Amino acid sequence: MSSPPLFLLINPWITDFAAFDLWAKPIGLLVLASLLRDGGCGVRLIDCLDRRDPFTNSHPEILPGMDKKFGAGKYPRMRLAKPGPYSDFPRYFYRHGIHPESFRRKLLEIEKPDLIWITSSMTYWYPGVSEAVRLAREVFPGTPVWLGGIYAKLCPGHAERQSGADRIITEDISGLPKMICETTGYRVRNASTWGDFNAWPFPALDLLKPGLDYAPILTGTGCPFRCPFCASARLQPRRARFGAERIFNEIARDHYDFGIIDFAFYDDALLIDAEYTLKTVLEKIAEEGPAIRFHAPNALHVRALSRDWCDLLHAAGFKTIRLGLETTVDGKSREWGGKVNTEMYLDAVENLFGAGFSGDDIGVYLLCGLPGQTPEEVTESIGIVRQSGVRPHIAEYSPIPGTPMWDKAAAISPFDIRTEPLYHNNTFYACRRPDFTYEDMVLLKREARSKKREERPVAGSRE
Ligand code: SF4
Repeated sequence: MSSPPLFLLINPWITDFAAFDLWAKPIGLLVLASLLRDGGCGVRLIDCLDRRDPFTNSHPEILPGMDKKFGAGKYPRMRLAKPGPYSDFPRYFYRHGIHPESFRRKLLEIEKPDLIWITSSMTYWYPGVSEAVRLAREVFPGTPVWLGGIYAKLCPGHAERQSGADRIITEDISGLPKMICETTGYRVRNASTWGDFNAWPFPALDLLKPGLDYAPILTGTGCPFRCPFCASARLQPRRARFGAERIFNEIARDHYDFGIIDFAFYDDALLIDAEYTLKTVLEKIAEEGPAIRFHAPNALHVRALSRDWCDLLHAAGFKTIRLGLETTVDGKSREWGGKVNTEMYLDAVENLFGAGFSGDDIGVYLLCGLPGQTPEEVTESIGIVRQSGVRPHIAEYSPIPGTPMWDKAAAISPFDIRTEPLYHNNTFYACRRPDFTYEDMVLLKREARSKKREERPVAGSRE
């Protein structure tokens, strides 16, 4: 092919009982868009999760979304018939995002692409992926469709059978220029930068305008821990970090060029090994007086939260703090990777309060329903978190293929989680069992939500 190819990138729908836009942008797809553009290719993007789509928001079949604090919010949604595996599950099922007719219209506005590239996230959202593939094929028959992202990586066999895509991308990003050349005949002119994390361009946020309420920020990939329930090592085996200058420049671009105030970090291990990267950036921002707000929806590592770090997070404008505690039961935390214990956690909370955060700023993730766990253990953890003056958030266990805990999960689940990804849905709770039932899960979630947390002394009183 002599002329550069045109790529159509698609962020598909979420199909689930519930979904909330907690600063979720398709950052991988946006980096891919930048790499393709820098490589000389044409790029168009359709975001099926756009909360600001006018056609969708005025459509009678759509239940409207809702804006919440700091750019987060509820997606518009449309009720769907439940897929077979969920038929007895007592919840409504929805497609979250734009109306399919809006998607079709957006496709028709685009010139015929040479390649369609769809991303994916949770394995159990594959019905939204398949629908996007099907509709894109209707409008552009004959154009090859590739599927990448998390579902493609974790369930390649299922994706091959079910998604309708021509190719399932499981390769490392460094191998993609060669694949592009084989399919389109075009050699991207930046092939050497694809595998070089530090040479990556900023994500192509401009493609999301005008629905840009916040920006995703990634300062590094991977995690040095190996918790047995987590897919981080499988999805991001390489640990790498951007330099301070690069992180600062990206934040400055998003703030000054796009007017972004709210930033959400997507790192799995934001504060680990960050002394000379993120820390330098936050010191600079704190010094200048922060005009922006930071959010850490992915849990921060409790062990990193020294008083110095907490002071810095507060001074730099962090507004949302989530901590990964998982459990306060000593034997369990060791079995689950040993990255935190209750003493470390209580110290971290003291440090956060001492730095000026309030109980409303801090949420603590507690895992619930893992193989071998009992409801009583979760109740104990909820109590300790409440006593510490912050909010517990129950994270229902979702079995993830390829994780060290996967075989145990498959052995105890009464459902066929090996062949049906819909059973990975955390709301469905497929690892229910006689000593940890679905009703136990519902009660624990209610308990975590309803009980008022203990009153804290005023911030800074530890000093
Ligand atoms: S520390 Fe967090 S990101 Fe790292 S492996 Fe454990 S759960 Fe995953």
